[in-house]
Parts: sequence; structure tokens; C-alpha cells
Amino acid sequence: MKDRTGEKIVFSLPSFYDAVYEYEDAEYVIFGVPFDCTSSYRAGSRWAPDEMRKACMNFETYDYYHRSDMTDILVHDAGNMDTPVSADDMLSELYEEVAGLLDDGKFPIMLGGEHSLSYAPVKACRDYYERKDREEGKDPEGITFLVLDAHLDMRTDFRGVKYNHACVSRHIIEEVTPKYVTIGVRSGPEEEWDYMEEHGIPFYTSDDVDERGIKEIIKEVSEKIEGDRIYLSLDMDVIDPAYCAGLGTPEPFGLSPREVREVLRVFAPKTIGFDIVEIAPEYDFGNSALLATKLMREFIFAREAGRKKA
Ligand code: MN
Ligand code: MN
Repeated sequence: MKDRTGEKIVFSLPSFYDAVYEYEDAEYVIFGVPFDCTSSYRAGSRWAPDEMRKACMNFETYDYYHRSDMTDILVHDAGNMDTPVSADDMLSELYEEVAGLLDDGKFPIMLGGEHSLSYAPVKACRDYYERKDREEGKDPEGITFLVLDAHLDMRTDFRGVKYNHACVSRHIIEEVTPKYVTIGVRSGPEEEWDYMEEHGIPFYTSDDVDERGIKEIIKEVSEKIEGDRIYLSLDMDVIDPAYCAGLGTPEPFGLSPREVREVLRVFAPKTIGFDIVEIAPEYDFGNSALLATKLMREFIFAREAGRKKA
């Protein structure tokens, strides 16, 4: 978007106050993508990245569980991307952005925006690692898309739009990577459940989590995932709306924040990219943005801790 002088307008608060490193020195780059043009029920996730920047002010830089301080971790906040109206344009610009981060050796953390966005970073990660493997003379090992979501997002299109947020997982599985696992699902039309079963795609419903416990599910998922290249996507509506009401498409009987945190703690060290999407902060009193910010921090602390151990 340009203003009348032709200057680029980027809507973004100063930054996460504890992301204190310059781009050049950073290992993690957080960036917001305030795009919600295909949201099917209620829009508003465009406001999430800045709400999370505000919410961050609530937290100490120190984390007792990991005995670690955020200001010691090389994190940079790159602000928000400029967003076009069309989903196709958005995805191609986002792809270029993430490809550039990966080429610079950065770990991408995307704050949506809506879930349709995830397609671009997942594809950029796949292409980057495929190229890297080939350069080293190896067969590409591929990447796994691990998604926490209330919805299957397995439609081929929604209201005529291919890259709608209700279709993201279908396009990723068909066009980007067949290695896919989803946890917390509880919503989708009959055809989507049939599609999952016919293709033997692993999924764990929120009832599975409730009945078997998150630790057992995590153990089973860990055994299914080959390799250390996981792209983790957190659609915040996986969490029960009782904890997190500020969502585009809230769905009751969800996971607890602790269950989601456990998934992040275990898998973060094996990730190559991460996103948090679908928060619509106008529908609550800041709780969802607060929780999302806390989970992002948990993710970063856990990834650092796991890599130091390894
Ligand atoms: Mn989703
Ligand atoms: Mn969802």
C-alpha cells in the first residue's frame, strides 16, 4: 500500500521489545503478515501481529522453565509485510520474502494473518532444503508439515477461491509435501474426513488428545515423522475458545494451552519454520494475542534449549 506521496506504508508497532538484535546478527526473524482477505466467517487477523507486539510488554524477558533470557537469543523483529488484496499476489510476495530469509540463513517465524498464508513459507522451505540437498549430492529428504488446527482445511477451493484459508492443508499436501500430520482437528465437511481416510493421512482429533493424553499422541507422531525438518503451523483455533476467543473461526471442545505448549516444547528443536495464524484480536480482551505471544516465546525458548542439548 502506498500513501499519496508514493511512500510505502507499513502498519507495524515499533517491535517486540525483547527482540533486540539487528537483522544481520539474528538467527530468528519474526515478521507479521497482516492479511485476512479470504477469511470465511469473521476477518480481523490482520490486527494480530501488532496486538502480539503489545502483549509482549506483559512478559519478563527471563523464562524460568528454560533458565534462559530472550534477550540472549538472536531474535529480530522485521515488522509487517506490505499486503496486496489478492491472495495469489500475497502468496508470491510472501514466498520471495521467506526464500530470502532462508538464503540469509535465518529461521522464519511468521505471524498471520490467516492460515492460507502458510502455503508460501512451507513451499519456500521445501525448495530451499531440496536445493541444499541436491547441492550436497544427496536425494532430497523432504519436509514434514505439522499443523495444529481445529479444521482440516482440506477443501480444494472455497467459494471459488483456491488459496482460501479453508484449503491450505489440501494444497500443501498435494503440491508441496505429502508428509503431513495434524493434531486437534474437530471440524470439516464429510468429504474432507473421507479424503483423510482414503489417503491414510494421519490426524488426531481433540477427542483423541482428551482420551489418550497429549504425551502419548506426541510419542506416536514423533515415530511417524522421519527426519528433522518439520515446518510447524499453529492455527490458534486449535485451542478451546474458552481460553482463546479472539479467533476468525472459533470451534468448541479444543485443546488446552498446556497441551499446545507441550507439542511446541517437544517439536520446536526439530523445526525449520514456524507460524502462528488466525487470531482475530477484536473478539476478546487481548487474551488470544497474549496467549499466542506466550506460545511464540515458548517455541523460541524450547528450540534454543533443544539445540543446545543436541
Ligand atoms: Mn486452519
Ligand atoms: Mn482453523
